[in-house]
Amino acid sequence: MKPSPFTYRRATSVADAIVLLAVAPDETAAIAGGQSLGPLLNLRMTTAGTLIDLAAISELRESRDLGDAVFIGAGVTHAEIEDGKVPDPSHGFMRRAAAKIAYRAIRCHGTIGGSVAMADPAADWPCILLALNATARIAGPQGERRLAMDDLLVAAYETNLAAGEIILGFEIPKLDDTARAASSKINRKTGAFADSLAVAVRQGARSRVTLGAASIRARILPQTSAALAQGESLEALRPLVASDVAALLAAPDPYLQNLHATNVMRTLAEVLGA
Ligand SMILES: Cc1cc2nc3c(=O)[nH]c(=O)nc-3n(C[C@H](O)[C@H](O)[C@H](O)COP(=O)(O)OP(=O)(O)OC[C@H]3O[C@@H](n4cnc5c(N)ncnc54)[C@H](O)[C@@H]3O)c2cc1C
Repeated sequence: MKPSPFTYRRATSVADAIVLLAVAPDETAAIAGGQSLGPLLNLRMTTAGTLIDLAAISELRESRDLGDAVFIGAGVTHAEIEDGKVPDPSHGFMRRAAAKIAYRAIRCHGTIGGSVAMADPAADWPCILLALNATARIAGPQGERRLAMDDLLVAAYETNLAAGEIILGFEIPKLDDTARAASSKINRKTGAFADSLAVAVRQGARSRVTLGAASIRARILPQTSAALAQGESLEALRPLVASDVAALLAAPDPYLQNLHATNVMRTLAEVLGA
């Protein structure tokens, strides 16, 4: 199928994009890599009167070392992260995780900002950035603001971005030298979205474990994260994982319970070196 007709505008700067998006915010959509929005438009699962292309905005492609954190621009592609073309706050973890997203052709176009703005509950970056305790920098007609990932994600395909706002990028705290981070993705075939996506970051009191594809959005596993922070063993974590996963599922389901709990235990085994 082909999309409904739309007007195409290529923004040249963040300020330009915000002006263009403000003309008719409810009928206008930003497009970055087009890897999610393109198929949705083609299948007519969504429509847009005007598409504002963000791909030529150099500000969105910038990344920099901030000292304690790294800023990665929203327009940076999955492949650029995989290839180490941006500063890495995570001792290589983000590079390895990026390589597990979709296929290389999609990774060459799809962007970290588009992935988070899309808010697919099974997508990789929302779950990873939540585990890394990232903060999104956002710009809109009212100026700039910052939102922690936990506050940005709302539900399936829903974020706290207001109409006319765009994500500028993400500030990601650097992991310290003792930290370990891992992700485990269960999917039916290479390149498919996750049936279960678990991410664990072990870093003392800042330890965090997140789970995607289990509910309407990526979530922090609270009991598991707290126990990991306290240095509990893998076996001590097992019942807490089971309890956290059960709390996320919409209804009791032994298959999904086992799938997600097993997946979380895999990431925990990796970060604990067990
Ligand atoms: C076959 C296939 C397999 C895939 N597998 C995976 C996978 O395993 N894991 C995974 O995580 N993803 C997967 N994806 C999705 C892919 O990673 C997309 O690139 C990503 O979800 C969207 O990024 P994009 O830059 O292409 O965004 P677009 O498709 O251009 O836009 C997506 C949404 O984000 C909005 N948007 C884009 N940029 C911004 C911004 N800076 N600020 C505000 N809003 C913005 C758009 O308005 C739109 O609503 C897959 C896609 C396909 C087609």
